[in-house]
Amino acid sequence: MQVLKKQPTVKAPAETFTGDAWFDVIARGEEPSRIRVSVVRFAPGARNAWHAHAVGQTVHVTEGVGLIQARGEKVIEIHPGDTIHTPPGEWHWHGAAPDRFMTHLAMWEASAEGEEAEWGALVTDAEYLGSR
Ligand code: MN
Repeated sequence: MQVLKKQPTVKAPAETFTGDAWFDVIARGEEPSRIRVSVVRFAPGARNAWHAHAVGQTVHVTEGVGLIQARGEKVIEIHPGDTIHTPPGEWHWHGAAPDRFMTHLAMWEASAEGEEAEWGALVTDAEYLGSR
């Protein structure tokens, strides 16, 4: 057993996030595990860019109100206790509601080749405020 040292909180990069979000790494598996777990805290209006996870992702909302959208589908409002799975290769984004903070646990895996996610364009205001 090992009590792990707390890693520094890291600000999410502007290349792949709109607005302010912060990461706390909770787990990063060592081979053969490739699990990744982070707590992500989004300020109101903040969201990540369009992206797709190589091996899929599960997010679990712990606080606030958030929004999530899969490409071609409506924007969905998400709340504490909600768990959302995005399958491998599905393009999507997630973040806080315009006027609320949102915190979620994000759980994903790297592929055998070490790939984690493919990133695309930032989510525009029109997309972010689009059809719910
Ligand atoms: Mn994602």
